[in-house]
Amino acid sequence: MTKYIFITGGVVSSIGKGITAASIGRILKSRGLRVTIQKHDPYLNVDAGTMSPFQHGEAFLTKDGAETDLDLGHYERFIDINLSKDNSITTGKIYNTVISKERRGDFLGKTVQIIPHITDEIKDSIKRLNRPGQSPFDVIIVEIGGTIGDIEGLPFLEAIRQFRNDIGKENVLYIHLSFFPYLKAAKEIKSKPTQHSIKELRSIGIQPDLLICRAQAKLTESVKDKISLFCDIPRDGIIEMQDVDSIYEVPLVLEEQNLGNLMVQMLQLPTVNPDLKEWREMVNRLYHPDKKVNIAVIGKYFRLKDAYLSISEALTHAGIEQKCKVETKQIDTELLLKEDIMNLLKGVQGILIHGGFGVKGIEGMIKAAKFAREEKIPFLGICLGMKCALIEFAKNVLNLADANSVEFAPDTAHPIFNSLDRLTDVAFKDTGVRIGSYSCNLTKGSIAFKIYQRDRIEERHRHSYGFNNQYLSKFEQAGIIFSGVNLEDNLVEIFELKEHPWFIGTQFHPEFKSRPNRPHPIFKSFLEAAIRNK
Ligand code: GLN
Repeated sequence: MTKYIFITGGVVSSIGKGITAASIGRILKSRGLRVTIQKHDPYLNVDAGTMSPFQHGEAFLTKDGAETDLDLGHYERFIDINLSKDNSITTGKIYNTVISKERRGDFLGKTVQIIPHITDEIKDSIKRLNRPGQSPFDVIIVEIGGTIGDIEGLPFLEAIRQFRNDIGKENVLYIHLSFFPYLKAAKEIKSKPTQHSIKELRSIGIQPDLLICRAQAKLTESVKDKISLFCDIPRDGIIEMQDVDSIYEVPLVLEEQNLGNLMVQMLQLPTVNPDLKEWREMVNRLYHPDKKVNIAVIGKYFRLKDAYLSISEALTHAGIEQKCKVETKQIDTELLLKEDIMNLLKGVQGILIHGGFGVKGIEGMIKAAKFAREEKIPFLGICLGMKCALIEFAKNVLNLADANSVEFAPDTAHPIFNSLDRLTDVAFKDTGVRIGSYSCNLTKGSIAFKIYQRDRIEERHRHSYGFNNQYLSKFEQAGIIFSGVNLEDNLVEIFELKEHPWFIGTQFHPEFKSRPNRPHPIFKSFLEAAIRNK
């Protein structure tokens, strides 16, 4: 029988609900339980693909090509599982399904309403995570996005309220994560906002079983007693979570306060000693680096901290393995045109160019790729970064002054990159975007082959333009090795530069597959090269 844990958030957003949910997944998994996790986002967008990274941070890309909330990235990294489109639910998705059913006449003339039709669809989307023919999960964790009190969250809260009655009290746990501000003048942590948040939850019919307190200072025993009394939560179910230096410490902080055992007891799951040895060692390495490396990260969405979350995590993971503190210097590509590049990139040991869309900022990226090539600085170009590096090479080494991608110059005389529908017969269905996991065959003897130690890999993609094979031999003659190719669609996936210590571009996004305890081989190798470039 699957058990369900529902996580809600109170008082303010951005208090780390996603990381808490992911950490709960990790501490349950460390007890040998089969865990999965789902995010419910109460916005009307059907998925995160159309949402600006400036507002919401990166759209995390799953193996099956879903563009999801960035919390799915935390889930994958903490629990070390691969998720799919079914793990990300939005109001838009739920309404879309219900309205399509209504148009098909599935409701047989009934009035279609939020309760029960929307709430049923929400509940079904949770239950569908258990697939027919597969053994059911031991625990399904569901994080409800937003904050208690938001109008748009109400159908989700109503659905999870009903859930407990539907499947029995002993199978459902509600965990509330709330914020406790510290008032400097009064030198006091205040619990009133949390009391109100829980009061609101209770008015909907949900009584939290456990409370995780995100506090700006240590909670006193008397505050804990007070919350326990006022909010009707057992005293030992009040867990503290202060700021820690790394998000990867959170599972350990929660485990230390017995959260794992409490959840297991309350849900009547088998008691097993948690095995967090590997995780603990990983955090220990992270906290005790013996060297430091400087990486310039070049992109165009830096206005929001989380716009490139998976890349900065992937660099951290590679650093953990090397016991190396990775310091990143984020450089907005526009700046590269305004300021002296020597000055901007002085002292960096590696240069990484991000993915992205549209012509804005391309010039700066091309300039940075040239600098990395000529100065022999380890270079990793991801998707758009790969494109800029090859355009630069075409312009300056192959002397094709007009070389470009048709994305940036539709009428260019030398379309080094062309739209996928012109390059392949597949045309990538209706959208023209090649998205999700695709395979790549590696050339023996190449750096890419050495990195992966395999002939064939699978990586996640999101792009509409690909390398134009008409130019393949021109590039090869001048010292580019196309070391990874997708054989089904004949598309270039990886290139590397011969006369350079480490210069690689990937059409795919390796960052989405990196894990704190298992860094991605590309990032690992890139970082090793940067460390060597002291
Ligand atoms: N805009 C480029 C393309 O669509 C690169 C995409 C990316 O960096 N993800 O091909």
